[in-house]
Amino acid sequence: MTALRLYNTLTRQKEDFAPLDPNNVRMYVCGPTVYDYAHIGNARPVIVFDVLFRLLRHLYGESHVTYVRNITDIDDKINARAAEAATAKGITVEAARAEITAATAKQYLDDVAALGCLPPTHTPRATEYVPQMIAMIEKLVDSKHAYPTKDGHVLFRVSSKADYGKLSRRPLDEMIAGARVEVASNKEDPMDFVLWKPSDDQTPGWESPWGRGRPGWHIECSAMGEALLGETFDIHGGGIDLMFPHHENEIAQSESAHHDHPLAKVWMHNGFLQVEGEKMAKSLGNFITINELLKDWMERSSDSICFELSTANQLIGRCRG
Ligand SMILES: [Zn+2]
Repeated sequence: MTALRLYNTLTRQKEDFAPLDPNNVRMYVCGPTVYDYAHIGNARPVIVFDVLFRLLRHLYGESHVTYVRNITDIDDKINARAAEAATAKGITVEAARAEITAATAKQYLDDVAALGCLPPTHTPRATEYVPQMIAMIEKLVDSKHAYPTKDGHVLFRVSSKADYGKLSRRPLDEMIAGARVEVASNKEDPMDFVLWKPSDDQTPGWESPWGRGRPGWHIECSAMGEALLGETFDIHGGGIDLMFPHHENEIAQSESAHHDHPLAKVWMHNGFLQVEGEKMAKSLGNFITINELLKDWMERSSDSICFELSTANQLIGRCRG
């Protein structure tokens, strides 16, 4: 078989790829947080990992590759939008959250399908895996890798993971500065991060052993990855901005819950889409949504550029003047 070599962020080198099980090559890629239209910077990981998905299917057979790309539908940015919409429409925050995430997830899936990307094997939503997240957090608390606080948080004890930081390899002071972004009282150590946080009446929440609350973002991916791909899988991907703290914390949680078995053999990260030298980002206001791009493209396509999708779903670019 043709050798596939991949750059592994974990080891900082190109390595020959050898799947754990050639009959079931498993890949997890962090998907979108659904509260707004996706911009074309958000489309970059979708396209990059779609190319890899196709290549793996080509090498190992279409039915021998499992690709999971999640949808984050529990997040405080979503909650902030839901609170505004609930007040404006006179509905509950939970109803507003469900409305926003359903509409945005649909738009996202339509947009990436229009870009010609194959659907992943599984597209789990965080809201469907809350019991698995609670179970993983309980395991971490029982093994002293995590601790509940008096105010209803559960925090991961970073000092319990000797090799914490092995993916991003950041200096300690930078990791502490990054961890401070996440506000929680009663931290034993500023590096400790949130696994579970309390919800008030105005915030969506689920019953748990630590009271009504909601999961932190990192544990969502750890639990969905475990449920659909097992303790250790072949490839974990995402944007380079997710390497710290998100992926570092996924590793810490999953490996601690799984007797130090590695979460993924290969870690792959895509770079940012740049606009005039800067990252395309919602916060910078320099973005074009996939939806806007496609509309503009449809209007122009009759006299400038035209792309066709073949029946095999391979992109064939054809340009005419
Ligand atoms: Zn993730």
